Amino acid sequence: MIQLQNVTYAYQDGTHTDTVLHQINLTVRPGEWVAITGANGSGKSTLSRLFNGLFVPTEGEITVAGHDLQQPSQRDLVKQRVQLVFQNPDAQLVGLTPVEDVAFGLENRGLPRNEIQARIEQVLRQVGLEHKRSADVSTLSGGQKQRLAIASCLALQPDLLIFDEATSMLDPKGRRAVYQIARDLWRQGMTVIWVTQRLDELLEAERVLVMERGEIVFDGAARVLFYESELPETLGWEVPAVIRIGYWLQARKVPLHALPLREEGLEEWLCELTVQT
Ligand code: ADP
Repeated sequence: MIQLQNVTYAYQDGTHTDTVLHQINLTVRPGEWVAITGANGSGKSTLSRLFNGLFVPTEGEITVAGHDLQQPSQRDLVKQRVQLVFQNPDAQLVGLTPVEDVAFGLENRGLPRNEIQARIEQVLRQVGLEHKRSADVSTLSGGQKQRLAIASCLALQPDLLIFDEATSMLDPKGRRAVYQIARDLWRQGMTVIWVTQRLDELLEAERVLVMERGEIVFDGAARVLFYESELPETLGWEVPAVIRIGYWLQARKVPLHALPLREEGLEEWLCELTVQT
């Protein structure tokens, strides 16, 4: 789905050049869920904008869904097939109602009226906003706005969805709803790049990339990241409670089949452990 070879990216400001991504090599396969994390300024957003052709590498090669992004004509094709959901839902909504917002991108592509109607109904149902179809967008909660942004992306039938810190401005309920929608889409076959600074949103990821100063310093499963690498400690992370419990059990050499990684079901897991030991 995505292939980067020795990709470097530099921001140019007059005569000043600031290289913020260094020699990135990366392959993302169709159907993968890839979480990307790292401190502010580590390069996550810049990398995300390379994936959909918004930015062009200063050096190196990038191919997305078979398109060589060095070619301007190919970049336009990729922009349709790769959709980005940004941090601030207000910044990406254009319609006065959910129906208008979803319709906007479809009308721009000149789709027939009945196709537009069918897609609107389908995507609003997918994100659970069918009952808000004609509501004033300004009355929606942050989570509902973000779900609408996802619906408008889905209507364009992308192959790849990138969420760039899409839950960071939401309350816990909105955050969970948006995260669950993304997980459901992934289970149905969508390739998802999930950019986040929230460590609890990494726990279920089969693949996590950790970025530091424009480089990928870790690429592997959440289990390996939290339990077998030194990174959480060296980066001074405040790890989620479930991982702290895992560290505690690990330090005391409690015999276990596997260390805990999910907050869901943790109570039952601990009860069973207490009965066994
Ligand atoms: P992250 O998403 O991890 O916070 P970014 O990709 O936004 O990281 O930023 C990486 C680096 O690029 C930072 O040093 C940031 O200051 C710089 N940067 C981001 N956007 C711009 C820009 N438009 N012009 C110049 N430098 C930028």
